[in-house]
Amino acid sequence: MTLRFRLSVNGERHSTTLRTALSERTHSTSLSVRPEFIEGRSESNGRSRTIDKSCLNCYDMNMLRKFLNTFVDILYPKICLACKTKLKNKSSIDNLVCAGCWEKIKRNPPPFCCSCGRHLRNSIKNICADCVRKQLHFDRAFSPCAYEGVTKELIHMFKYKDKDYLGFTLSKLMIEFIKDYNLPMEFVDLVIPIPLHKARLREREFNQAEILSNHIASEFNKRVLPDALMRLRNTKTQTELEISERFANVQGGFSAAKNEDIKGKNILLVDDVLTTGATSSEAARTLKNAGAHIVFVLTLAN
Ligand SMILES: [Zn+2]
Ligand SMILES: [Zn+2]
Repeated sequence: MTLRFRLSVNGERHSTTLRTALSERTHSTSLSVRPEFIEGRSESNGRSRTIDKSCLNCYDMNMLRKFLNTFVDILYPKICLACKTKLKNKSSIDNLVCAGCWEKIKRNPPPFCCSCGRHLRNSIKNICADCVRKQLHFDRAFSPCAYEGVTKELIHMFKYKDKDYLGFTLSKLMIEFIKDYNLPMEFVDLVIPIPLHKARLREREFNQAEILSNHIASEFNKRVLPDALMRLRNTKTQTELEISERFANVQGGFSAAKNEDIKGKNILLVDDVLTTGATSSEAARTLKNAGAHIVFVLTLAN
């Protein structure tokens, strides 16, 4: 069988073909090829048809993924996802981001607000001016980075440009933060990602919070419950709303799947960004109504 692919590399489209034996066994798998796998077509018996991803088994997909990555690596040198300069293998971070851009990631220094986790400029109080006026339902939130500059750009690529593999690199910032500030992971029973609504998940094909959760949980040997929370509504994107509207937009937006898994547990709720805290707060309220004991929030940036 001959496969013909169209690849998009840095905005340019290229075609190539690959001869391979593909089994017709049915096995659902998600495709994650770097750079973006745009389209696969098969030509057998002189006919052309679009490949059904579900008919490729995992072995075939791994072979295909390796082949495509090698093919692209040979033809196209890797560039930094943030500044687009050519990467020097030894100093780059996971062959994705140059050392210069990684250095530019703005970390949140202590002291931290005891509620939202932002850096406190006025260290006389232990809570920021925003949190004094709000009722947030989580016990405490933490974020290693400020949501600006390189961090904002990388998160945008991670979520909206199909670069799910960036989750491994970005989760390192969260893991490093947990270790640097001795966050009490020994008391955490479960790691729960903020879920996407199923319609948005279908569109994006991955939940960025779940990818981050998996890496964190694996580092600290914790259990992840990706289905503990469910989004009931496909709410408007929070960024389009005024701060006061964000809390109303997410109210009643989650349900907890199984109370017996959550009851009495200390939970680390994970998401990519915390802005007003409305989404995390509503998710924490839902978990507490289902019996959760303590809910900490960890986001990559705030
Ligand atoms: Zn760079
Ligand atoms: Zn605060």
